[in-house]
Amino acid sequence: MSEYKMNTKCVQGGYQPGNGEPRQIPIIQSTTFRYETSEDMGKLFDLEASGYFYTRLQNPTNDYVAAKIAELEGGTAAMLTSSGQAANFFALFNICECGSHIVASSSIYGGTFNLISVTMAKMGIEVTFVSPDCTKEELNAAFKDNTRAVFGETIANPALTVFDIEKFAKAAHEHGVPLIVDNTFPTPINCRPIEWGADIVTHSTTKYMDGHGAAVGGAIVDSGNFDWMAHAEKFPGLCTPDDSYHGVTYAEKFGKEGAFITKCTSQLMRDFGCIQSPQNAFILNLGLESLHVRMPRHVENGQAVAEFLQGHDKVLKVNYPGLKSDPYYEVAQKYLPNGGCGVVSFELKGGKPAAEAFMKELKLAAIETHVADARTCCLNPATSTHRQMTEEQLIEAGIPAGLIRISCGLEDKEDLIADLAQALDAVK
Ligand SMILES: *Cc1c(COP(=O)(O)O)cnc(C)c1O
Repeated sequence: MSEYKMNTKCVQGGYQPGNGEPRQIPIIQSTTFRYETSEDMGKLFDLEASGYFYTRLQNPTNDYVAAKIAELEGGTAAMLTSSGQAANFFALFNICECGSHIVASSSIYGGTFNLISVTMAKMGIEVTFVSPDCTKEELNAAFKDNTRAVFGETIANPALTVFDIEKFAKAAHEHGVPLIVDNTFPTPINCRPIEWGADIVTHSTTKYMDGHGAAVGGAIVDSGNFDWMAHAEKFPGLCTPDDSYHGVTYAEKFGKEGAFITKCTSQLMRDFGCIQSPQNAFILNLGLESLHVRMPRHVENGQAVAEFLQGHDKVLKVNYPGLKSDPYYEVAQKYLPNGGCGVVSFELKGGKPAAEAFMKELKLAAIETHVADARTCCLNPATSTHRQMTEEQLIEAGIPAGLIRISCGLEDKEDLIADLAQALDAVK
């Protein structure tokens, strides 16, 4: 499929049925798989043959969909996980252990921030957060001898900052470690981080890839570019024999192209079991079949809504990298020439009371913690996800009380703007 264009890969990538086989991806709703002989099964356990034995580790339905995502991102191997959180945890924990250190952008999803700064800290993995806008000097200064990975989000949720992938990839590679990029918001339709030097790409497929608010899931894609063996002292898990798999050395046996995902499947999926259900993988694939059709519409609606809000006298500020006035406009033009996503954030002049009055009047845009759905949804963090914070704490965290995040769906943009306009009229 690699010779085809993105639109074709979205529709037909990952699965090519043979003569008389189902046209649609079959849902292999089976926990286990049958073998003729113990020897046959033994080869699977020795990683001598590839095949399926238990759905906690691998399932064919998932692998068809993962193969499509690998094609879309331009990677050599991929796997699905039960959620975006699991994808980011696995991507990091596959190469980090107690005593390791991570350099991460400070502008990332709150769940990932907690994962790295609180939960992984309890495992003895340290982090240094850097601003996505840091200088090369500041970035280089964040590295330590025990740094094992660099992490960032192409477009951060919810700050909508844009990550300078090339800058971070260069610094990572100069220090002999891979760059992991969470590409959830733009999807491979609008940005392919591997083309800019990222080594590993992760996704919360819960967002645009599914796109219908139907199935929680995640994905990890390996570019196949990072030379683990050239930095073997840093990555013993990939470059020395795995005692739990009969002494296999992943980077030797599976090469640059396959080592990362094979280890992540055979160790982390085996031990943690955060697999996506085959049903969810099937639903995710339905979303992927129209991803290339939906993303431009999300961008069109996001741009129209951002422009409308920017011109409104009750709005203090709009964050959207597609606006010329946005501080990330230039970097977005480089990495996201066709636009980024449909998520816009804006601040109302009247603070929390204004936000409450506004949200109450919305008819099409539903109040939800979700984003990246076909249906428009919005959230005022100060009265919901961050309501335990005081006014001062909110300002410190860069979340003004009047800030609203709106995720523009696939409705008609004129209807969306009319809905926002009437709700803004209700704000005194
Ligand atoms: C939602 C999200 C996640 C977490 O994904 P889940 O599927 O909810 O676990 C990770 N990264 C980004 C950028 C997200 O938007």
